[in-house]
Amino acid sequence: MDKSLPSFSTRSKVLMIEDDVSYARLIEILLSESSLLSCEVVKCHTLHDGLEAMETEEFSAVLLDLTLPDSTGFETLETMLHRFSNHNIIVLTGRVDKDLGIKAVKAGAQDFMVKGEFDGDQLAKALRYSIERKNVMSRLEDAQRRARIGHWECDPSRRYFYASKETYRLFDLDPAKVHFTCEDLQSPDSPFAPLMEIEQLTRSNGNARQDITITGNEGQIKYLSLQCQAEEVGEDQFVFSGIIQDITDRKQSEELKKAHDLAQQTAKIREQVLASVSHEMRTPMNAIVGMTNLLLSSSLNEEQLNFINSIKQSSDVLLGIINDILQISALQNELIVFKNKQFSLQELTEQLKAVMRPKLGEKELIFRIHLAPDIPDQLHGDQIRLSQILFNLIGNAIKFTDQGFIELNVSKVQETDGFYLLQFDLKDSGIGIPADKIDSIFETFTRISSKDRITEGTGLGLSIAKKLVEQQGGRIWAQSEEGVGSVFSFELKFQKISEQPETANVKVAPQVYPDLERPFTVMVVEDHRINQMVIQKTLEKKWPNVRIIMANHGGEAIELLQEKPEVDIILMDLLMPVRDGFETASYIRNEMDGDIAGIPILAMTANAHISEDGKYHQYGMNDYILKPFKPNELFTKITYHLAKPEPK
Ligand code: ADP
Repeated sequence: MDKSLPSFSTRSKVLMIEDDVSYARLIEILLSESSLLSCEVVKCHTLHDGLEAMETEEFSAVLLDLTLPDSTGFETLETMLHRFSNHNIIVLTGRVDKDLGIKAVKAGAQDFMVKGEFDGDQLAKALRYSIERKNVMSRLEDAQRRARIGHWECDPSRRYFYASKETYRLFDLDPAKVHFTCEDLQSPDSPFAPLMEIEQLTRSNGNARQDITITGNEGQIKYLSLQCQAEEVGEDQFVFSGIIQDITDRKQSEELKKAHDLAQQTAKIREQVLASVSHEMRTPMNAIVGMTNLLLSSSLNEEQLNFINSIKQSSDVLLGIINDILQISALQNELIVFKNKQFSLQELTEQLKAVMRPKLGEKELIFRIHLAPDIPDQLHGDQIRLSQILFNLIGNAIKFTDQGFIELNVSKVQETDGFYLLQFDLKDSGIGIPADKIDSIFETFTRISSKDRITEGTGLGLSIAKKLVEQQGGRIWAQSEEGVGSVFSFELKFQKISEQPETANVKVAPQVYPDLERPFTVMVVEDHRINQMVIQKTLEKKWPNVRIIMANHGGEAIELLQEKPEVDIILMDLLMPVRDGFETASYIRNEMDGDIAGIPILAMTANAHISEDGKYHQYGMNDYILKPFKPNELFTKITYHLAKPEPK
């Protein structure tokens, strides 16, 4: 086989529209004799029949006699081009009307041949070219279909319009069934009307771009991007070409991203609002918890004691929720600083067990702890956060297990020169979690409702645990079977401890401070009346010899201090009118006389993260008390700072 010739894998079809039966037969014979081409010839005798055949079948080329019973001359070609603008048409003319052939090629025919002047090989060559052109066209159509890009051209002066098959498909039209001419497009109802609109836009600056939406046959929204450019070919005469692209997937993913961003933003706003509401709630909670503690230490009959205990339990739950919300918002904003130091894993787990004992006892649950023997007892990490993660997981295990056991297993996953990677598995024999819900339980505010169970909680415990684990570079996951139980697992790295014990880790006996027997004075700077009362009463109950000087805000505190009263310690609220706690503390430290400037100052704050930002220290305050304060913590801190000589 001659390799220089293109090979045609399928037998091509050629349409011959010729009314002279014997001439048609002659052409058939000529073609069959040529070795250049093997094709099937379909014959029609009128233009009408020819157009109909083209409607139903694909032809590689059309041999068109211009003089037919139903159409003669140049009009025959025009009618055909108008209907099938992109077909390969070879015009057959007589010797006398050779000029017509030239005119036909100018108008868009592929070639012309003068009857009686060509042999079989010449005709076959022209047809081969047509067939190859057709193949190139169909490859282009195929590429357009895959890329979902169509193209179209329009030349109104020639009443020429061509749109690729993909252009039809992009408008949800079947290119085998519909065909639009230049005239069809002028109608505003035409599905191709947007092509005409953009065509108008190109007239001003030569090109235009527009994204449009259309509704597809099945009601689906399609996004199409149109680009068009105009070339001026004569005075006020333009040829119009454009491309059209389906950008539905891109638009939909953009919209999904937008919706996703919006959902994230909404969640963030929701958490911020909750965090600020919770923050505001801590002040009145301070009063409730404080007053409850005061009442509990007074003489009460049994009924009153029960009432007060109920108030205390409820306020502890409420405080837990508020603290969770504040913590998740701090974690979300990456405000938590992890503090690593040496600790004993065994002590930590035993302490957790001791704290959980009352709850475990209520349900008669067995709690087993198993630490793998190859894990050293002393680790280096943030023990407070580790306790918190385990506390949340154990709390849930108890909450969702009515009978059976809870088991904590700790194993070593990896050991390098610098660290241990440990895996904690908390297993319970509880109610389990449905398979379709397991992926969402770590999201904020997710609780799985169950008709026969009233669950308390905010749906924050697991998201806090997840963030605490992930922000330390670890990972957390859960496995569960409904009715059988769950296993919550997490992996965390712990640094190996160096040979030299860190000074901070040297165990010291807990310090016992002598109780204050001498009279002493506490200045309380606090704008909230009930809190003033709670602090005053709490201190007076503990120390009958205490003298309280009350200031309603920072400005008043400074005025009172300028009178140089004997003050041993100042309890300073942070958020106050006139002068806030930070400003007042720094004024006392930097602007006031030596004795006053050295008075110990304890910040009092409802901000659960004060220890993390250390701001109280920068403003010269010695320590802080978290509100609602635990009376014993307040007493210990006051005693400590009064017993300890403050560095001047
Ligand atoms: P909450 O603080 O309300 O308990 P969490 O974030 O800790 O919220 O847990 C979310 C949800 O995951 C719970 O409401 C519960 O439906 C489910 N869940 C968590 N732990 C367990 C468990 N051990 N067994 C069964 N379900 C659990």
